[in-house]
Amino acid sequence: MIIAGCRLPVSCCLFPDAPQLLLAGGTPAPLHSGAVAVDGRPGYERPGSLEEALALLARLGEHAVPLAGGTDVALRLRHGLVGTEHTLIDLGGIGLGGLEERGDALVLGAAVRIADLRSSPRVARRAPLLCEATAEFGSPQIRGRATLAGNLGNASPVADLAPALVALGARITLASKDGTRELAVEDLPSGPGKTARRVDELITEVTVPFQRGPGAYERLVYRRQLAIAVGSVAVHTEVREGKVSWARVAAGAVGPRVLLCPRTAAAIVGLPVGEGAPARLAAAVQALATETSPISDPRASRAYRAGALGEALRTAVGRGRDGRGGRGQS
Ligand SMILES: Cc1cc2nc3c(=O)[nH]c(=O)nc-3n(C[C@H](O)[C@H](O)[C@H](O)COP(=O)(O)OP(=O)(O)OC[C@H]3O[C@@H](n4cnc5c(N)ncnc54)[C@H](O)[C@@H]3O)c2cc1C
Repeated sequence: MIIAGCRLPVSCCLFPDAPQLLLAGGTPAPLHSGAVAVDGRPGYERPGSLEEALALLARLGEHAVPLAGGTDVALRLRHGLVGTEHTLIDLGGIGLGGLEERGDALVLGAAVRIADLRSSPRVARRAPLLCEATAEFGSPQIRGRATLAGNLGNASPVADLAPALVALGARITLASKDGTRELAVEDLPSGPGKTARRVDELITEVTVPFQRGPGAYERLVYRRQLAIAVGSVAVHTEVREGKVSWARVAAGAVGPRVLLCPRTAAAIVGLPVGEGAPARLAAAVQALATETSPISDPRASRAYRAGALGEALRTAVGRGRDGRGGRGQS
């Protein structure tokens, strides 16, 4: 079945109306109206405002499944993890697609697409590390559907945006009908596929402080695109008087969730720019090994992940220090 010019086999196995959810741009017709599930399919609701969506979440509780671009939810449907007891809450009608500067931060709406992040001159200028994290994300079709909140809400330890956002010190706003609260991006996931989001909450925006200095995102993959990272590291630094004066480091796919690595960052501070400092970098690589817990799985062994991650850190620090971070809009 061809969807918006691409082959998305997931749609074939879900329910006949799935293409309506997956078609880019258009306003999809409901699978069936109301929250009552029929024919083994989940219920479906398409609220017209954030308030309506939050009221639905409050009413349906754990049975509500927020649906943004659907690129992850589609797989859960296919594997029977979302069933008749659930109701999909299609967020396509509630807005949240804004991308603006507020003070010294970028404020990104939950529904901003990966393609928007990748092509935005504002993101490229203010948070090139985030732009870089979108460079090898999925395919053009996936980037055109997948959203920022979906990437974080899915809580996959291999998600590409999370390490960059953590290294940038980004914060998530969660809204419920009772109000809003903020969380650091690293505090949203509580384990693979699990988050600290309450069932009555939605991610509404992500606030990303402007990047302070050189940064780089290194992703270990077996091929450039449509591949899941077997390890990733994001490095964000500030440079003063020829030395790294401040750093923040995050790692992905080497633990049950994205990891902030403060000891690794501390070991980078003080390194001279544009000059090798192998002993200090060895200390950073060692610190990274203590702050991550890679596992063996069919894609890579624990030992491979640990070794390769250290090399990724060397590359990222080297690129960042040389001012060669940012493969952003390749
Ligand atoms: C072929 C393919 C390639 C991919 N490549 C990559 C890749 O390179 N890198 C990568 O990181 N990911 C990749 N993904 C995974 C996926 O595309 C991303 O995680 C994407 O960002 C999910 O966004 P979405 O809008 O489609 O989310 P959805 O599938 O709609 O939702 C994902 C999760 O987030 C929740 N959610 C959505 N919006 C909100 C909200 N506002 N508030 C609270 N919870 C919310 C949903 O309930 C669900 O649990 C790929 C997927 C496919 C199918």
